[in-house]
Amino acid sequence: MVRVKTKLVTWEEIVEWSHGLAMIIRKDGYKPDVIVALARGGYVPARLLCDFLDVENLLSIQSQHWTEAAKAEEKAIIKYPYKVDLSGRRVLIVDDIVDTGDSIKLAYEFIVKNWNPLEARTAALQWISSVAKFKPDYYYIEVTDWTWFQYPWTRLEDTYQFIKRIMTETYKETNKKKWSFEEIVNGFKEWYGIDVGELYYREALRILEEKGIIVREGSEYVLAT
Ligand code: AMP
Repeated sequence: MVRVKTKLVTWEEIVEWSHGLAMIIRKDGYKPDVIVALARGGYVPARLLCDFLDVENLLSIQSQHWTEAAKAEEKAIIKYPYKVDLSGRRVLIVDDIVDTGDSIKLAYEFIVKNWNPLEARTAALQWISSVAKFKPDYYYIEVTDWTWFQYPWTRLEDTYQFIKRIMTETYKETNKKKWSFEEIVNGFKEWYGIDVGELYYREALRILEEKGIIVREGSEYVLAT
């Protein structure tokens, strides 16, 4: 049974969605002078929007969610709060998805306050309207039922984190520590309802081994506890 509603997003869909988003922005008559990619998820959509909207200037800013000491709640921060002068410039801030909305809201407020643009608007490929505290000016897909979108640029990161979760949760539930490659792949498909392909499973296991989270015993993978 699928435990986390997940959708595997293909590169083709990313191009289609970015193009669709660009068409919406163009129809609205907004002509940005500068696009700002919200790192890291906004990089590819922002670059494609530069292409589809014929924008030459691309900047980036990184916002990051961090867990506070008490781990009670997550707060977004601007990781490197540098300054540039964008006076007289129209800006478009781009991210892949607006979920809680914390990241894009923070980036928008930071840019308006510190970079002095003539105008700043926001855009995302997807907007989870049922949970977001911030609505971007432009979005291509409105998501009403919360889903984890497995984008191509986080495929490996997501895969190793998902595998780690499967192994640690199963250990808590059943004491199982030792897994074959096939069991891991089947567990992944069962828990997340998607298949990322052998290259990603193998690379994810290599990273988990490197991090000391699992140990290899012959052809099996053992959770290090
Ligand atoms: P937010 O909660 O809006 O501040 O989201 C921060 C960033 O986390 C987004 O820009 C994405 O890169 C990533 N993210 C958040 N929620 C999702 C989701 N449901 N699916 C995929 N990526 C997500």
